[in-house]
Amino acid sequence: MRSNNELHGRHAIITGGGRGIGAAVAAELAQRGADLSLMGRNMDRLHRTAESIRDRCGSKVETHRLDVTELAAVAQAFAFAQKSLGPAYILVNNAGQAQAMPFPKMQPDFWERMMAVNLTSAFYCAQQVLPAMVEHGRGRVVNIASTAGLKGYPKISAYCASKHGLVGLTRALAVEYAKSGVTVNAVCPGYTETEMLDRAVSEVVDSMGKSPEEARALLTRKNPQGRLVKPEEVADAVAWLCSPEASAITGQAIAVAGGEVQ
Ligand code: NAP
Repeated sequence: MRSNNELHGRHAIITGGGRGIGAAVAAELAQRGADLSLMGRNMDRLHRTAESIRDRCGSKVETHRLDVTELAAVAQAFAFAQKSLGPAYILVNNAGQAQAMPFPKMQPDFWERMMAVNLTSAFYCAQQVLPAMVEHGRGRVVNIASTAGLKGYPKISAYCASKHGLVGLTRALAVEYAKSGVTVNAVCPGYTETEMLDRAVSEVVDSMGKSPEEARALLTRKNPQGRLVKPEEVADAVAWLCSPEASAITGQAIAVAGGEVQ
């Protein structure tokens, strides 16, 4: 965690900011001076995260309930947030869900749910902030994709397709907005120690009959460093992309995965 004030007074909106990677990103951006709007469905988690960041950093931290798959809710939450803390300088599209499903068993509603939460949500949220970013000639959009946005994994085809789509959206927006002062990048974590990983472990236990320890070891082995990624390591990459030093970095999909993808 770095403590300088390079983002002082800048408004950062983080979807899924109540826990896991989103909460780590929120803490890191606040440490660098940003004021935050944390958005998600679980207000208890959002309030707890907001309170602990306010205590440590003294930033303004507001919370908003939204389901990122509902356009009207997204539009309303972003309008409130930007009225209160000003136009967003940073948007981190972090909210997401990963669920396994063997391809032959996959039903259309499952496919559509994965696309809605991991891909369409980023389209909805980016449209709420880009006009003002362009008007001010500056901004940072960081999409939390995944190594599953850069390579394939078995039994999570819908998740992989949605995250590949998110990387594609990132690259396209980066060139569409290249002259505007706005950068658009993706951070692609490998298996990271959050509740999402706990659910992946449970799925391996259920589907392969492994013990929780064996399942965790199986996922850990995917990372050449032989360990899981920490949410704070993902947050550091996001914060760097939001820093003034990264203004020439756009359209990149940066893996934070111990060398799993190259
Ligand atoms: P997590 O602990 O399960 O957190 C997911 C976050 O997304 C929660 O804050 C949740 O908030 C929010 N969210 C989910 N569905 C939502 C919806 N419909 N509307 C609004 N918010 C929603 O998982 P995480 O590991 O921190 O995941 C964060 C991001 O990193 C995801 O995009 C994930 O795909 C990506 N990622 C994670 C890993 C990993 O191994 N952990 C690896 C690669 C990529 P609420 O419950 O409050 O709604």
